[in-house]
Amino acid sequence: MDNVKVICPLCEAGELIFKTSPWTYCYKEHDFVLEDIEFAECTSCHSELILPDQSRRNEARIRDEHRKIDGLLTSIDITQLKKHFHLTESQASQIFGSLDFSKYETGEQIQNK
Ligand SMILES: [Zn+2]
Repeated sequence: MDNVKVICPLCEAGELIFKTSPWTYCYKEHDFVLEDIEFAECTSCHSELILPDQSRRNEARIRDEHRKIDGLLTSIDITQLKKHFHLTESQASQIFGSLDFSKYETGEQIQNK
């Protein structure tokens, strides 16, 4: 996203600067902090907003923290397990009971226990 100018959708005058900041979340009475949560700030109206791409990445990370709190494997754990056991996509899908295993790896979807 460097070098690409994104005009602020709110004032249509400023340019969006991509930033990160630590953010505290709470899930099932567990507080956790994620460093480098992504957002954008306008150089003109100074609005802070989260773009769809940023939101997707932020949410995948939040879901991984939820998994840890729930005692489930994170998307990184799942990818490592798949590599460790040399599983193919379809074998992994059978074991984890999903037809779309890649969603677990990208953090788009949370698996059951
Ligand atoms: Zn603006």
